[in-house]
Amino acid sequence: MPLPEHGLVCGGCGQPSTLKRTTDNNPNGNIQRPYYKCTPCDSWFTWADVVGVDEGNAPCYCNTPSRVNVTGVNARSGPGRRYRSCATGRCGYWSWDS
Ligand SMILES: [Zn+2]
Ligand SMILES: [Zn+2]
Repeated sequence: MPLPEHGLVCGGCGQPSTLKRTTDNNPNGNIQRPYYKCTPCDSWFTWADVVGVDEGNAPCYCNTPSRVNVTGVNARSGPGRRYRSCATGRCGYWSWDS
């Protein structure tokens, strides 16, 4: 399932987001991974790749397969836990992957 390269709209404020990349020293091992970040509201973020997005995943509220993520080293709920979110960050879907 391809994601748009450019112009993905923020799921929060509706402004066009900016394509960025994680740095080489990302603590969670997401090295040079592309993501969209909304600059106007500074509170919205989604990965710009299809890592963790599988046709068999439970659908989000957009009725498309969700993305399986793993919590990072600084997660309040503890690192290494799997959860599902909207693949494009559009609908705010979020659930633990049990
Ligand atoms: Zn925004
Ligand atoms: Zn969605």
